[in-house]
Amino acid sequence: MDGITIALSKGRIYEETLPLLAAAGIEPLENPETSRKLIIPTTRDDVRVVIVRATDAPTYVQYGAADIGVAGKDVLLEHGGDGLYQPLDLKIAKCRMMVAIPAGFDYQNAVRQGARLKVATKYINIAREHFAAKGVHVDLIKLYGSMELAPLAGLADAIVDLVSTGSTLKANNLVAIEHIVDISSRLIVNQAALKLKRERIDPILDAIASVVGK
Ligand code: ATP
Ligand code: MG
Repeated sequence: MDGITIALSKGRIYEETLPLLAAAGIEPLENPETSRKLIIPTTRDDVRVVIVRATDAPTYVQYGAADIGVAGKDVLLEHGGDGLYQPLDLKIAKCRMMVAIPAGFDYQNAVRQGARLKVATKYINIAREHFAAKGVHVDLIKLYGSMELAPLAGLADAIVDLVSTGSTLKANNLVAIEHIVDISSRLIVNQAALKLKRERIDPILDAIASVVGK
C-alpha cells in the first residue's frame, strides 16, 4: 500500500492517541468502540487505521503490515522491539510496572534466605530480567490476566503487574513493594517504511511531537 497504515488498540490507547493524530489532520471516520470494522478510513485518504490487540501492535509494525503504531513500553519490552524505530514517548497510558505481594508476606526475608519465589505474571521477560538483575531466584508462571488472583489462590508468592492507582491491589489485599519501570506508550515506526515513505511519515511524526504532553 502506498498510503500510511496506523495500528492502534481499542480502549485507553485509542482514546489518548486521537488528539495526537488530530494534530496531523488524521481523524478516523468511524469509532472502533461501536463499529465492528477493523480497518477504519480517516479524514486523510492516504491514511487508514487498523484495530489490533494491544500486544499485537509491535508485530504489525515489525512486519510492515502497519507503518506506524502505538504500543505500551510494557508491550515493547516483552516484544523486544526488533524492526521497530521508537522515535517518540507519547506520555499517554502512564502507569508503573511493579512487584506486588499479599499484605503481610515477608518478601525481604524470603529473598534474603534465597528462597525460590513463585512469581505469576503476563510479563515473563520483564520479570525474568528484573529478578535476574537482583540475583533473586524465581519460578515464573505465565498468566494472561487477573494476576491479582494468583497469590490469593495460592498459585504464586508474588506478581509482576501494571499499577496505576493501586485500587485493584488494595481491593485484593496486595501491596506493591518494588518498582520495576515507568510505563507509557510509544510511537513505533517500521524501519523500512521510515526510509521508503519518509515524505509522508516525517510530517506525521513532527505534528504529533509538537502536541505531545500538551
Ligand atoms: P485487555 O485489557 O483488553 O486485556 P490490554 O490490557 O493489553 O488488553 P489495555 O488495557 O488497553 O490493553 O492496555 C494497553 C496499554 O495501556 C498497556 O500495554 C499499558 O501500557 C497501558 N496500561 C495498562 N493498564 C493501565 C492502567 N491501569 N493505567 C494506565 N495505563 C495502563
Ligand atoms: Mg488491560
